[in-house]
Amino acid sequence: MPMLYFLAPIPQEKGHEYMTAIAANLQAVRGRIARAAQAAGRDPASVALLAVSKTWPAEAVCEAAAAGQRAFGENYVQEGEHKAAALAALDLEWHFIGPLQSNKTRPVANAFDWVHSIDRLKIGERLSAQRDVHLPPLNVCIQVNVSGEDSKSGVAPDAARALALAVAALPRLRLRGLMCIPEPTDDDALLHRRFATLRALKDALVAEGLALDTLSMGMSHDLEAAIAEGATIVRVGTAIFGARAAAQAMATN
Ligand SMILES: *Cc1c(COP(=O)(O)O)cnc(C)c1O
Repeated sequence: MPMLYFLAPIPQEKGHEYMTAIAANLQAVRGRIARAAQAAGRDPASVALLAVSKTWPAEAVCEAAAAGQRAFGENYVQEGEHKAAALAALDLEWHFIGPLQSNKTRPVANAFDWVHSIDRLKIGERLSAQRDVHLPPLNVCIQVNVSGEDSKSGVAPDAARALALAVAALPRLRLRGLMCIPEPTDDDALLHRRFATLRALKDALVAEGLALDTLSMGMSHDLEAAIAEGATIVRVGTAIFGARAAAQAMATN
């Protein structure tokens, strides 16, 4: 897909009165996070917002960055790599959150600060071997399939422990925690159970001595349930940037 990165100057005069739609959406999402954290008796600062910019051009990322957002999530290797390079001067943090094939690990190992979607050891081994020695260790999460056979990505919950222990031992990775994407559902109780499953898996690994601090769970429609169950990173796209068009959703690696 040809992609045009047009870096428009962001108006930043003092006392600038109206907000862009992205700035207003970010403020609304931050409000949702704060209210959900307070309702759960948690410090709102314990929940980080990852802005999922997949399919949106670099100029949308610039707009979010001008509104104070630092961490961005991408699903597609080339798209994310190009955006991170185009915006290198902004010193943003880039998270890879999509499915990862083993022949695409090299650019991900070096263009990103985090990978949320390790679901097998081979991917972890390749990321560790390919991470530039001059860069700090790559922050990673294990993606767990908390919904059973209906959903495609992630390691099965009963295999998560072994994978986590093996990934934690890789020299150029720093295992931070677990990630999940529950099946789409309007059943709030089911969502809470899925997120609680991920939290219980992480708590068990911490009890075994792994220094994990991250539960990457919750998206635009379910971040409240995820925060109630302990999310430390919510990954939000639509509520910040708007609905992704069908054509954009077809963008591939
Ligand atoms: C697209 C995506 C998101 C963001 O989803 P929204 O519903 O747009 O907030 C979060 N996590 C992953 C892994 C995604 O692919």
